[in-house]
Amino acid sequence: MVVIGAGYDGITAVLRLAKLLRGHADYQVHLVDRNLFLLLKTQLHEAAVLKTEVTIPIDRLIRNRNISFHLAEVSRIGPDERTVFLQSDSLPFEYLVAALGSQTNFYGIPGLQEHAFTLETLSGARHIHDHIARLCARASSEPDEARRIDLLRFVIGGGGLSGVEFAAEFADHSVHCTRNNHINLEEFEIILVEAGSRIMPNLAESLSTPVEKKLREKRVKVLTQTRILDQTADSVTLSPGGVVKTETLVWTGGIRITDLFRESGMKIGKLGRIMVDEYLRAESYPFIYAIGDDALAMNHFTGNPVPTAAQFALQQGRLVAENIFANVTGGKRRPYFPTVWGEVVSLGRHLAVGWRFLSQKRSPSSVSWGVF
Ligand SMILES: Cc1cc2nc3c(=O)[nH]c(=O)nc-3n(C[C@H](O)[C@H](O)[C@H](O)COP(=O)(O)OP(=O)(O)OC[C@H]3O[C@@H](n4cnc5c(N)ncnc54)[C@H](O)[C@@H]3O)c2cc1C
Repeated sequence: MVVIGAGYDGITAVLRLAKLLRGHADYQVHLVDRNLFLLLKTQLHEAAVLKTEVTIPIDRLIRNRNISFHLAEVSRIGPDERTVFLQSDSLPFEYLVAALGSQTNFYGIPGLQEHAFTLETLSGARHIHDHIARLCARASSEPDEARRIDLLRFVIGGGGLSGVEFAAEFADHSVHCTRNNHINLEEFEIILVEAGSRIMPNLAESLSTPVEKKLREKRVKVLTQTRILDQTADSVTLSPGGVVKTETLVWTGGIRITDLFRESGMKIGKLGRIMVDEYLRAESYPFIYAIGDDALAMNHFTGNPVPTAAQFALQQGRLVAENIFANVTGGKRRPYFPTVWGEVVSLGRHLAVGWRFLSQKRSPSSVSWGVF
């Protein structure tokens, strides 16, 4: 069994598989990732602002389990050869779990790939942190007011969950950053740009309205129905809005999936996600399971694709481990039905807004709305 990708779902799958296959000495579980750690992606916005610890070493997670970890980049998947190719190695598999997650999509917007900061990796978050610290320091010794104001203008592209959470965390931090560097807080400007008619278009409208209000209270300028047309080293062009002077655009406006799956001949849907059946098996390849951001899993209640979110990734990781175990032991596979545990948006250090199920029954009456 080979699991590629040690994100939330890959780690869940591998731990569950190792547990289920205990006592089946003929099966070995392999895990491949390019990093030595599990990255807690949902907390990256905190790392970008506060440099908090957002990783857990993989060796600590798989200690004392029957799991072989391979630190390597997956360079090709050969479904017909039933082999995963790494840079200088290859791993044959009986079952494969594809859990390589997603990466930033720049949608071909001129200048973005060259100049924008992104919030998808640990190094991306650290770059943002160091860049903010540098700009605050430069602004504190900049005598020209107009120049100082330009240095302290920060644009966030994309008003989805990650852009919103970053904006709120950053707004809280701006108070400390300006105080520590003897800068006037009024000169600090955070602009959140969203192309749609409201922020967080994938979440309930009843959630985005209070969140937008809280952001404005934190002095974040929210621009909806506004597109980023291009970026240079010291400006971005908005439509409507024109040229905005800034050295900082944090782009959280979209994701895409690696091309490895398309190149391997798997059937691909929207965003490059792998088309899967009800058991999360890749179409035409019943021995390959896809989970997390990589899988175009359907919610059979709503008829819509399951969103890319950590809560679904975790559920899928557990299910595919159990379905693979059912395959090898002659058991019955279970179809995938997503469970929504809730929607919570973190808004800085001391505030989160959302709803969550309070009881196991998950009836509408067990839903709690509010500020946590
Ligand atoms: C800033 C931010 C905030 C978010 N907030 C929330 C939230 O509040 N709630 C929520 O539900 N979701 C949130 N999400 C989305 C959530 O993080 C993702 O849906 C989730 O991480 C997907 O899990 P995954 O395991 O599919 O992918 P990932 O977590 O991306 O894991 C993929 C793994 O594959 C590895 N990998 C990739 N390519 C290769 C390769 N070629 N070779 C070897 N290894 C490779 C990577 O190193 C990584 O370890 C957020 C995302 C971001 C970026």
